[in-house]
Amino acid sequence: MDSFYVTTAIPYVNATPHLGFALELVQADALARYHRLSGGDTWFLTGTDENSLTNVLAADREGLPVRSLVDRNAETFRTLTHVLHISHDDFIRTATDSRHWVGAHRFWTACAGAGDIYKRPYRGLYCVRCERFYTTDELVGGRCPDHEIEPEVVEEENYFFRLSRYADQLTDLITSGALRVVPESRHREVQAFIARGVKDFSISRTQARARGWGIPVPGDPDQVMYVWFDALTNDVTALGYGSESSRFRRSWLNNPHRVHVIGKDILRFHAVYWPAMLLSAGLPVPTRIIVHGFLTRDGRRMSKTLGTGIDPAALVTSWGVDSVRYWLLREVPPTDDADYTETSLARAYTADLANNLGNLLQRTTSMMHRYRAGRIPTERPGAGSSLQTAAERLPAALHRGLGEGWDPRVGLEAIFNLVGAANRFVEDTKPWALARAEGGGDWDAGQRLDHVLWNLAECLRLVAEALRPFLPQTAERIAANLGVALAAKWTEALQWGALPAGGPVAGPVALFPKREQPPDST
Ligand SMILES: [Zn+2]
Repeated sequence: MDSFYVTTAIPYVNATPHLGFALELVQADALARYHRLSGGDTWFLTGTDENSLTNVLAADREGLPVRSLVDRNAETFRTLTHVLHISHDDFIRTATDSRHWVGAHRFWTACAGAGDIYKRPYRGLYCVRCERFYTTDELVGGRCPDHEIEPEVVEEENYFFRLSRYADQLTDLITSGALRVVPESRHREVQAFIARGVKDFSISRTQARARGWGIPVPGDPDQVMYVWFDALTNDVTALGYGSESSRFRRSWLNNPHRVHVIGKDILRFHAVYWPAMLLSAGLPVPTRIIVHGFLTRDGRRMSKTLGTGIDPAALVTSWGVDSVRYWLLREVPPTDDADYTETSLARAYTADLANNLGNLLQRTTSMMHRYRAGRIPTERPGAGSSLQTAAERLPAALHRGLGEGWDPRVGLEAIFNLVGAANRFVEDTKPWALARAEGGGDWDAGQRLDHVLWNLAECLRLVAEALRPFLPQTAERIAANLGVALAAKWTEALQWGALPAGGPVAGPVALFPKREQPPDST
């Protein structure tokens, strides 16, 4: 299994995280967990983008020193990773991690050494919230399309990056698929953008406009790096670019899978500017950029600036972490926009998690206790099972969902199909009737009851294994309840029949307790 490196975009910390970033974290987490279980050397990075003027402005509004605001808000993002059970290996903060400053300096110096950085006067329309310049035709009614505020006219001397020089190489990367943007529609969007012609872009601003906040340009203390230029480099500075680091070699230089998970609003930065910067610095480019859509609420983009956000931590408090992860991975089309409604989360909770999965675990463990003194019986050799066929589809579905393909719904669908099949298996085989017959002296009924219970236990073990990238806590709880250990790696663990003999099976528990009524989750 190859190495695998996955990153999220790093969000601005001028406000608290909303559900859209939770989606990105959970998507990247499912990928990382899948690749770890599949055996590859996996590294998963997230963090916070802190060198932006928006932080200075937010700190002004609150009457705080910038550093205090940034420290406080970065902590809410770090907390969110714990709340959502994100399995990142590293968390980078671009204002406070010295490795990032060292690496960003070296990156700038490498691009300058390649002749790709030059200084010239610049006049443009700048949205202070986006931290980017807009052309007139990109504005909507003269306003930023995302923030609905009028951009400022800014005129100053800036450093520019010679993007125009990389047009052909970028075209080759995209056309050959060496850099693959997922979904295909976004891939074509990037291709069309490059085909229209790429222009050099500004990568610095004056100390005065930056209010002295940000990473100084090497050799020119009057300028700081444009926040995007420094932020994009976090994908390599976190790995130790700029110092001799084996992690950088393993996860960036000698790794066939360099994957970024991002939102559609920042596609151009990650799929055009960033690869060109890497080419300039003499480094390999990302191999796959996975783009998700926006979560809306009442049809409007969930935005902290517009006040239409939902606090993902509050949602977890109301519904439990895996209910929220399940909704994000099963109900949200992974590369399209989706509308969050509480009704949709409540339906997924009740129908799929409580009534289907929770019910299967509860009835299986209670039958083990009632009929077999809390032990999983031994399988009778030669007895085939209808469940085996559904179970044997799991590895391919997981691979299509999180391996070669990208659609976590495919993996979850296969898992919940197996759960549904197991519940029907209980109805069809009627273990309670077998137990009655066994009690009346029917030895054969007893053998068949062993077979049914073993099959249900094996099904639940496989469901627990397969759920690990998606719902890690639920996977652990199912395994603990059955009294089986989850595998360190998936080598054999996804194969039918790997269930160890034994138990004891714990008493029945409600994985997803019945809810009286949907709580107020806003
Ligand atoms: Zn804006």
